[in-house]
Amino acid sequence: MFKYFENPEKYSYLEKSSTTCCICNEEKSILYSIATDDFECCCNECLLEGKLIEAGTWINDCDPNNYDSNVITYQTPPLPTWQDLNWPIVDGTFCVFIKLASKVDFDNNIEKFRSAALPIEVDLSQIEELWEALPNKKITSLQDGNYDTSFYLFRHNESYYWIWDAS
Ligand SMILES: [Zn+2]
Repeated sequence: MFKYFENPEKYSYLEKSSTTCCICNEEKSILYSIATDDFECCCNECLLEGKLIEAGTWINDCDPNNYDSNVITYQTPPLPTWQDLNWPIVDGTFCVFIKLASKVDFDNNIEKFRSAALPIEVDLSQIEELWEALPNKKITSLQDGNYDTSFYLFRHNESYYWIWDAS
């Protein structure tokens, strides 16, 4: 449904306390927590239709000069990071967020992990420490990926890349 976020119902922040979209005020089964100054939640339809632009609020950080910057900023569910990270770009186009990563996503192989590090975002001299911090167990949702250090797996064409941050 979203061009740059593959499985938001599993890996984005979902609003649990409300059943009503804070933008369109309609009752919805899936609401994302957007936690901006003016709105706490929004539904799939409001995101896709670009209602956040009209509402004067935004969700994700990214390079503002890309042809799809507005899609990332206003029309993509929130990336589940601890810090405000810029949405990664490879060869001039945005990557697709896939999931929170664990060692399983790299076949328990540090060389696969190393070669998938997004070069401008990851200091390769830290790779062994980062591998130690990478969770062992398979992560299938945001809830079971709740670690102090998080690894975010993206796809760009056929290649996978990761970035990370910490609480
Ligand atoms: Zn809505």
